[in-house]
Amino acid sequence: MLVKFKTKNRCRLCKHHILKKVLDLPKTVPGEQLKKRKNDKNVNLIPIDHYMCSKCKHVQLIHVPYFKKLWGKEYTYKPSDNPKLIKHFSDTVSFFKNNFEKKINFAFEIGSNDGIFLKQIKREFNSRVLGIDPSDEPVALAKKNNIPTIKNFFNYSMSKKIKKKYGSPDLIIANNVFAHMDDMHSIVRGIDYLLKENGYFIFEASYLLDVVNKHLIGTMIHEHVSIHSIYSLKPFLSLYNLQIIGLKHVDKIQGGAIVGIAVKSKKIIQSNVVKKFINKEKENNLTTIKGMQRFNNIFHLRINKFKNQINRKYSKNSIVGYGAARSAPLIIDLFDLRNKIEYIIDDNPRKINKFLSIGNIPIYNFKNKRNNLNNKLIFILGWAQTERIVLFLKKNKIKANIATIFPKFQIIKIS
Ligand SMILES: [Zn+2]
Repeated sequence: MLVKFKTKNRCRLCKHHILKKVLDLPKTVPGEQLKKRKNDKNVNLIPIDHYMCSKCKHVQLIHVPYFKKLWGKEYTYKPSDNPKLIKHFSDTVSFFKNNFEKKINFAFEIGSNDGIFLKQIKREFNSRVLGIDPSDEPVALAKKNNIPTIKNFFNYSMSKKIKKKYGSPDLIIANNVFAHMDDMHSIVRGIDYLLKENGYFIFEASYLLDVVNKHLIGTMIHEHVSIHSIYSLKPFLSLYNLQIIGLKHVDKIQGGAIVGIAVKSKKIIQSNVVKKFINKEKENNLTTIKGMQRFNNIFHLRINKFKNQINRKYSKNSIVGYGAARSAPLIIDLFDLRNKIEYIIDDNPRKINKFLSIGNIPIYNFKNKRNNLNNKLIFILGWAQTERIVLFLKKNKIKANIATIFPKFQIIKIS
């Protein structure tokens, strides 16, 4: 199968034309492309190097695949399944209510999924709510939960239709939307157009500081076209009258994220918390091309060190992967594991008995392989679930060594 892609030559935020490569990565499989049969044709690999804009310093991908089905029928991520996420969203709602606004009449959420966040807004503020999301199953669930949801993508032209039909919200939310958006201008222009004057905008985005400091390889997928910093996001949002007035760093969700509160105002607002975050980004060398390139060197040194540690002890077929995550092909190639992983274990029935699109690595469920795991090295590829997987293996009395890349690169022994 051939996945086509385009190569951008302008910065996603400021449209400047000088973009410098700041993170070298091997070309990898775009999206989740598992093969039904071993003999099926491999999908083409697409570059995933990260670039920095020399003007606004935004870190971004410039190779953008055309995904057909990503948000359609096959996308089944349901946040309401996850108690950690429910708690996290409830913290965000409290942070907003306690520090910024006690009264909300109408809240609108972009990428509202099954309505998990709007449900909490409705409960806390007793307000009217509306969501928009392009994926089938979550939208059906949201409707079941009495969260009215439009099944579509949000952009500027959609914002006009919504304003006409529903009026202007005094709160707009976009959680974990910014990393995925190739056309940030259309989205944020739409938010500016739709939001009431002096209304609020809440956003959550994966944060460059975490990606760099924690080496979050698992978040490096083609779907994540941007990694945001406040240094580059602040002036961009200001272009559309959104002034950041509140920020919160969250450590526990997807490796680390930033929650921001902005208010719609034509006047630029200088806030101390924004200054504090930008200073921290400067101290961590995230706002210069040289600083990011230095990170690239450290990143590859650490990867090579861990790779050698594994290679010294484990040869062909003595390693088992755990979790056929979207980022699995990149992790496998970064650590040179293509010919060393015998198979991957995953508990998602949709993935079992399929093959990874690199190395023809088969995917099995735990039950079929549990007697085959002792004394192997289990390399966790589903990095975000590391804690849960280690506990699960311990509970099942597996005696093995486990390699993790999150929260750090290490090998732990369980017995
Ligand atoms: Zn730029």
